[in-house]
Amino acid sequence: MDLRNKTLCASGFHAPERGLIDVLEDVLIDIGADGTIKAIHRPGEPNYRSIREAREETGELVVLPSGSYLLPGFVDLHVHAPQYPQLGGALDVPLEVWLQKYTFPLEARYEDLAFAQRSYRLLVDDLLANGTTTALYFATIHQEATRVLVDICLERGQRALIGKVAMDNEDECPPYYRDSSAKAAIDGTRAIIDYIRFHPENGDGRVHPVVTPRFIPSCTDAALKGLGALAQECGCHVQTHCSESDWAHGYALARFGATDTEMLDRFGLLGRRSVLAHSNFLTASDMERIRVREAAIAHCPLSNAYFANAVFPLRQALEKGLHVGLGTDISGGPSASMLENSRAAVLVSRMLASGVDPALPPAERSTAGVAQIDFRDAFYIATTGGGIALDLPVGQFQPGYAFDAIVIDTTAEKGSMRLFDQVEADDQILQKIIYTASKANIATTWVGGLKVH
Ligand SMILES: [Zn+2]
Repeated sequence: MDLRNKTLCASGFHAPERGLIDVLEDVLIDIGADGTIKAIHRPGEPNYRSIREAREETGELVVLPSGSYLLPGFVDLHVHAPQYPQLGGALDVPLEVWLQKYTFPLEARYEDLAFAQRSYRLLVDDLLANGTTTALYFATIHQEATRVLVDICLERGQRALIGKVAMDNEDECPPYYRDSSAKAAIDGTRAIIDYIRFHPENGDGRVHPVVTPRFIPSCTDAALKGLGALAQECGCHVQTHCSESDWAHGYALARFGATDTEMLDRFGLLGRRSVLAHSNFLTASDMERIRVREAAIAHCPLSNAYFANAVFPLRQALEKGLHVGLGTDISGGPSASMLENSRAAVLVSRMLASGVDPALPPAERSTAGVAQIDFRDAFYIATTGGGIALDLPVGQFQPGYAFDAIVIDTTAEKGSMRLFDQVEADDQILQKIIYTASKANIATTWVGGLKVH
C-alpha cells in the first residue's frame, strides 16, 4: 500500500557510510505527505512505545511481516534505455564494433514511437520490479521518443534522470543516426530540459533532465563546448562515458593529446552533478581531478567484463574519496538487476586483487595491490553511493530523504534465497540477500512513499 502519511514498522538494512551497515530492528519510519522520511524511532528510545501505540490506534501503522527486510531502493547510475531489447545479446564484439553493428541501428529504431512506447514501458516496469527506484537514463537522439520515456517514468512513478543523447560527429556516427549539427544537438538537449522542467505531472521533480553527450568520440568540439555551457547555465546533471576501453581511452589521446577527463573538464562538463560511466583507464591525475570537481563514477562491473579490457579499481577510487555508484549499463552489461551487478562488483574486485594468470607465482600475479571489496561496499555503491553521486536525498533511511525502498521477502517460494534455522547475526542476512536474492524476492517497491511495484 501507499505509505504517505503512514508509519512503517520494519527490520532491514542501509549503509549510511562506506563500511558501515546500520541494522534496523523494528524501527518506526514516519513518512510524510510528500513521501519523505520525517523521523525514525528505534526500540529503546523513550517515546518508541507510545508512538507505536498512538499510530496503531489511528490506523497509521503498517507492519512488515517477519522474514521481510526493508532496503533502500537501488540507484542505477548507468542505463541505456533504448538498448533493453538487446539485453543479453550482442556481446561478441568490441565496443567500437558493437556500436556500429548492433547499437546504433537499434537506437535509430526509436524514431518509431510505437516501438519506443512498448520498449520503454517494459523496461521501466522491469526495473521497478528489480528494485531500481532511481535510474540515470541515456535515451536516444530523438525528441519525441525521449519525451515518451519521460512520460512513462512519471506515469509509473520511477525517479529518473533522463537525457537526450547528443552525437553529431560525422566521423564516428552513421548518417542514419546522428544529430544534424552541433546546434541541433544543443537545441534538442535544451528542448528536453524544458519539457522535463515544465512537465505538468512533474511538480515534485521526480524526473530530472540530464545533459548527455554520448562520449567524446561521437561529439564535435562545438557540441561539447555548447553542452558544457548549457550544463553550467541550467545547473543540470551531466552524464557521459569516460575512458571506457583501450579504444575509447586512446581516441581522446589521439584527437586532443589529453584524456577524456581532462577534456570533459575543459569543455565545462565535469562538476558536482556529472556522472562518468566506466572510467576504467583513469590516470592518477584524472582521479584527482574528478575528486576535486566532486564528480562521480558509475562503476559497471558486468559491462566492463565484456567491453572494457580492464577492471575498474573500485576500492582505490573509494579510498581516495571519489563518489562512486553502481550501474547495470543496460545493455553493455547483460543484466538489469542491481543485485546481480552488486555481486559482479565483488567478484571482479577479487579477481583484480588476486590476478588471473595461473602461470605466474602468487606474488607476481596481482598488479593491483589491495583491491578487494565485500558485499558491504557493493551494497553501499548500489544505494548510498548512487544517491551521493547524483546529489539527491535517496539511497539511505534518514530524515529528509525520500522514502524510496524495497521489501525483500526471504520466504518467497519462487525466490532464490533460503534462510535456515540458524541465527543469522547482524548483517549476515544482508550478505545472503546480496548474494542470493532475485526479482522474485522483491515483494514491494516504493518511490517517494508510493507503491510502484
Ligand atoms: Zn554506456
